[in-house]
Amino acid sequence: MKYVDEFRDGALAKNLAASIAREVCERSYSFMEFCGGHTHAISRYGVTDLLPPNVRMIHGPGCPVCVLPIGRVDMAIELALEHGATLCTYADTVRVPASDNLSLQKAKARGGDIRMVYSAIDALALAQQHPEKQVVFFAIGFETTTPPTAVVIKQAKALGLKNFSVLCCHVLTPSAISSILESPEVRQYGTVPLDGFIGPAHVSTVIGSRPYEFFAEEYRKPVVIAGFEPLDVMQAILMLVRQVNENRAEVENEFTRAVTRDGNLKAQNLVAEVFELRREFEWRGLGLVPYSALKIRREFADFDAELRFPLTYRAVADNKGCECGAVLRGVRRPWDCKLFGTVCTPENPVGSCMVSSEGACAAHYTYGRFK
Ligand code: SF4
Repeated sequence: MKYVDEFRDGALAKNLAASIAREVCERSYSFMEFCGGHTHAISRYGVTDLLPPNVRMIHGPGCPVCVLPIGRVDMAIELALEHGATLCTYADTVRVPASDNLSLQKAKARGGDIRMVYSAIDALALAQQHPEKQVVFFAIGFETTTPPTAVVIKQAKALGLKNFSVLCCHVLTPSAISSILESPEVRQYGTVPLDGFIGPAHVSTVIGSRPYEFFAEEYRKPVVIAGFEPLDVMQAILMLVRQVNENRAEVENEFTRAVTRDGNLKAQNLVAEVFELRREFEWRGLGLVPYSALKIRREFADFDAELRFPLTYRAVADNKGCECGAVLRGVRRPWDCKLFGTVCTPENPVGSCMVSSEGACAAHYTYGRFK
């Protein structure tokens, strides 16, 4: 398959591994792959097994399900159980643990009308088919999933729908990267030595490579945007090693087959038309991050579930013993958590990082990677 098989070629992977081994110096290199898609690829294809021991990969917070805080899942459950809404969301979201040992899946078992959808448009169609129901789309994810949500809000307005709204939990990648770079673990204590980032693939097709230029310049951290195939990731690691060796901190684009400097301007304009920045938003693991998420603009307020229903947000601590917060900040590794693979498994996730295949804990558990 074009653009897939050629980026999974074993012989080329060995060549790249040899190049990395040849070019690393006598120092350590720590690179964070921001995106859960890369975390999954690294575990699935055993990329770390091909790296020299002094090159370490650190998982970042770029898994949309993982960073969703308990309080936001509680709001979705409240919509279904207390306000009688039909709650639609993407599949993995229904398994994210919430307060009181609940999840959307368990709330469904308690009688909540909770539906898994493949796209935002499915939720809109459901609202059209059932004018007697209040349908709420629980919208999560980074810049990749935001434009489709903007489209359905605009369509709902054009159709004059009175029974459709969105619980908006869309978050922004650059703010999360800032938060990590400003965190005490990186800036003060050096607990997380960070020499550079592998930039997200899908997100960057929308926002382009330009937003990362700030991090490269301001924090002196190289960024290489990479595709999701194993050779993409290995090539990005080689490019990062070269930048570190040459004392460069630039934004480079390995994923030129899909990412440009400016990204998808049409999608960006659409998002800007429907959404504006939230003053702050809680992320699991990162806490309250200023201007790191989107809310629905006043012009589309009729479709904002937070205004349509009497909902209040309550911050809730993670399950005792769950290390998701530290895993998402790159401070701990999945297998450092005492619950990993014993109490917490993909079938019975205690924390959000074990829910989605993009979660660091689920990826390591699934592919048996313990380094
Ligand atoms: Fe959280 Fe489970 Fe991962 Fe531990 S193993 S950090 S409980 S998701």
